[in-house]
Amino acid sequence: MRVIPLEKCITVADIEKNKTRFECTLLHELVHFVRKSAGLMDTDWDKFPDFPMEAGDQFEMWAYGVRTCSDTELSDALASYL
Ligand SMILES: [Zn+2]
Repeated sequence: MRVIPLEKCITVADIEKNKTRFECTLLHELVHFVRKSAGLMDTDWDKFPDFPMEAGDQFEMWAYGVRTCSDTELSDALASYL
């Protein structure tokens, strides 16, 4: 994994977007951690029809209104650095 400091972003807007991506990714993974701790790792679409997508993705949609951990966002993040 390559880590690039935020100050190497091309614009201030890129820094803000990458901060949001980091926050969202951290919270997305916390959703999985909490679900695993509670023994809820199984994805049973019949039992939980209100959760039509992967739990972390569902969290992103509820909290941010968009999926931040997507291939498009990853490409955008990589292009935001010098
Ligand atoms: Zn996930």
